[in-house]
Amino acid sequence: MAGLGEFELIRQYFAAAACATPVSGVARGIGDDCALLQLRPGEQLAVSTDTQVAGVHFPEHHDPFLLAQRVLAAAASDLAAMGAAPLGFTLALTLPNAEPAWLAGFARGLDVMARACQLALIGGDTTRGPLNINVTVFGRLPVGQALLRSGARPGDLLCLGGTTGEAAAALPLVLGERAASGAGDAELLARYWTPQPQLLLGQALRGLASAALDVSDGLLADCGHIAEQSGVALLIEAARLPLAAALREAAGARALHLALTGGDDYVLAFSLPPAALPTLQATGQPFHLIGRVAAGSGVRVLDRDGHDITPAAGGYQHFGGGDGQT
Ligand code: ADP
Ligand code: MG
Repeated sequence: MAGLGEFELIRQYFAAAACATPVSGVARGIGDDCALLQLRPGEQLAVSTDTQVAGVHFPEHHDPFLLAQRVLAAAASDLAAMGAAPLGFTLALTLPNAEPAWLAGFARGLDVMARACQLALIGGDTTRGPLNINVTVFGRLPVGQALLRSGARPGDLLCLGGTTGEAAAALPLVLGERAASGAGDAELLARYWTPQPQLLLGQALRGLASAALDVSDGLLADCGHIAEQSGVALLIEAARLPLAAALREAAGARALHLALTGGDDYVLAFSLPPAALPTLQATGQPFHLIGRVAAGSGVRVLDRDGHDITPAAGGYQHFGGGDGQT
């Protein structure tokens, strides 16, 4: 990295960030050839990596403070989905130039989300090129307790950790196709730019949920992964699906469609044996019952009378059809 200088840039904006202070579990953070993570006996390391490219995953014109939060939240959400406790993350940043205002905003946003998620910045890489951000997150899990996509069984309840569709409803605002006005739009924009990974819910689901994932490509598309990997059918009851007031206000008659197919929500979807319901309720963690698991395959959406009203569209895929983002 020319200009400010790679090492000066790393030192000033990242090594000096509050979130780069090594915490318990980080034996060595930024500054050496590798970071060192310290697991306890009986723990597994959960690892997930996420790349976001300007013009593909986020607009070229953006607020770096918000962008950093979104990128880190999206990655941390994968830890939540596995039930992992957050440990640290690395940041591989490719930048067209070392612009101090952008870097300062980005570093501040990173710090806000890192502290909200209790993730320490433990290393990274800094190179010059078209804007591209890669975050790899690390978490810890007791051996055998990870929440997989493959454990859903017929008879289980289907649950959702929050509302979906708002991030998709924010897209016209994000892309500047519509001007934001009012509290509802602010809420939609917050869902898009500053999603809140459900790390506590994920950890509460250990030993309770039979399968889980985070909804990033759209509820239908992601539930399809549980259905496929578990060898079951998932039935979503449309009347049970929570729709935020801001979504209804912005999307009107399309609210249900967006809640089913819109991406970027980062709430957890999971299957739950009915016997585990009281235990989960007692944790005080937020969730909605939205359907059930049955024998068969695929995901279906049912109306109040049990009629199949499943929309045709799937989630976005970079190398195939679809209408969202991955
Ligand atoms: P190396 O050449 O051995 O890969 P670097 O010179 O790229 O190491 O980086 C020096 C140190 O700074 C390493 O600890 C690395 O993890 C860290 N680092 C580099 N870029 C970033 C970044 N964008 N955010 C956080 N840490 C970074
Ligand atoms: Mg390097």
